[in-house]
Amino acid sequence: MENNELWENVLGDIELQISRPNFLTWLKHSKLLDKNEREGIVMVGLPNNFAKEWVKSRYHKLILGSLRNIDGSIKNVDYTVVNQNPLRPPHTAAKNAQEEASFLESQSPLLEPEVNPKTNLNPRYTFDSFVVGSSNEIAHAAAEAVAKDIGKKYNPLFVYGGVGLGKTHLIQAVGNRVAARHKHAVNVLYASSEKFINDVVWAVRNRRMEDVKKKYRDIDVLIVDDIQFIGGKTATEQEFFYTFNTLYEHNKQIIISSDRPPNSIPTLEERLRSRFEGGMIVDVGYPDYETRLAILKTKARERGFFIDDKVLEEVAARVQKNIRELEGVLNKVVFYEQCKNEKIDEKKLNEIISEAVQVTPKNITANDVVRAVADFFEVAPNDITNRSRKQEVVQPRQIAMYLLRDMLKLSYPHIGDRLGKRDHTTAIHACEKITKECSRDPGLNQKILLIKERLYKM
Ligand code: ADP
Ligand code: MG
Repeated sequence: MENNELWENVLGDIELQISRPNFLTWLKHSKLLDKNEREGIVMVGLPNNFAKEWVKSRYHKLILGSLRNIDGSIKNVDYTVVNQNPLRPPHTAAKNAQEEASFLESQSPLLEPEVNPKTNLNPRYTFDSFVVGSSNEIAHAAAEAVAKDIGKKYNPLFVYGGVGLGKTHLIQAVGNRVAARHKHAVNVLYASSEKFINDVVWAVRNRRMEDVKKKYRDIDVLIVDDIQFIGGKTATEQEFFYTFNTLYEHNKQIIISSDRPPNSIPTLEERLRSRFEGGMIVDVGYPDYETRLAILKTKARERGFFIDDKVLEEVAARVQKNIRELEGVLNKVVFYEQCKNEKIDEKKLNEIISEAVQVTPKNITANDVVRAVADFFEVAPNDITNRSRKQEVVQPRQIAMYLLRDMLKLSYPHIGDRLGKRDHTTAIHACEKITKECSRDPGLNQKILLIKERLYKM
């Protein structure tokens, strides 16, 4: 099969499984650039970095699953940017950057200890390596309670919070503890929701639903990560609902994570939502300075690195966005100190931190903001920019106005004009309203941070 044809088949397949706006935004302009027959690796091109990261993080499993269904020889997918934005030449720095990249890659958690093939758990994610602070102590306590008393105490346990704040770590820690304590007596299974979706799609297509039912219903602790992706895909959601009920009725433990609380996943079926709300819902928030510092110290120690406390303090003070980013900076510091034998001075540290923490979103346009907001709330971008009075776009539009002001510093008249030819007072009102609500409603605050984070990653 020609590459073109193969990719068209894949897109046709995926189009049926994700929402139309998502498909148009993220995948319509993708291409299959190359297929390495020998290694079974397919290279997919996306129009920009944002799309690349987004597709990689949200659709990779779906893409791989679909490719494999069509061509069993395919083993993996790589993503790359074609038509890179000319403002950002792809290969500016030379050897040093390469050296650094390969070091950082070798430090990447993705390449660390092998995932357990039976449970799918990563042994790195334990309670021992999880630092507890005010941002996560309730979630942590709930997770420990669940590990102690599976199926009885809090069921389901629903953990939500922004990207890189430790949800996966925490829910896997429960799995690892249970698996270690009960050895073979208790079946634990961790699945990303993409994995779950893929399994169901595959089974429906191959008429093997019984296999999937057995796989997911024959366990004692089911951990499903990033449940927000399941919402809205009817067959999968239904299967999940049945699985959920079966396990629940047999007092099996269910643990779920999501980037937002159940009542904010717009596509989630009501009955599933109320099931979630019947259990224990906890959130993980943004870590404070003390927690960030403790995490840095723990990570440095775990990896056997000795780094000046002063440096760690500076990093903890300035890298605030999330823990993944904190780890990234730590790795770079280690690279300079240990591998290149260079003492980190203030200038170098500044350089590392500002490289990692992109606070100036130079290339973000108003359209990007609207698209990111629309995508987050799963509404059409057009509904945000026109005069639509649909109830479900009122808040997304206000958030878009707020972000245009906050991030791009656009004028109120300009913002009003862009979003539905509205008066500048509407824009002012929206910005004030969102600012005020953010200080009262951590959930809203978190949503906005998530959208920003996506935009910063462009
Ligand atoms: P999420 O699933 O919320 O996006 P992860 O669980 O993947 O976030 O966490 C991102 C990284 O940060 C992981 O490497 C994880 O080990 C680390 N991490 C997050 N929270 C903590 C914590 N409280 N203590 C130690 N490491 C943490
Ligand atoms: Mg996660």
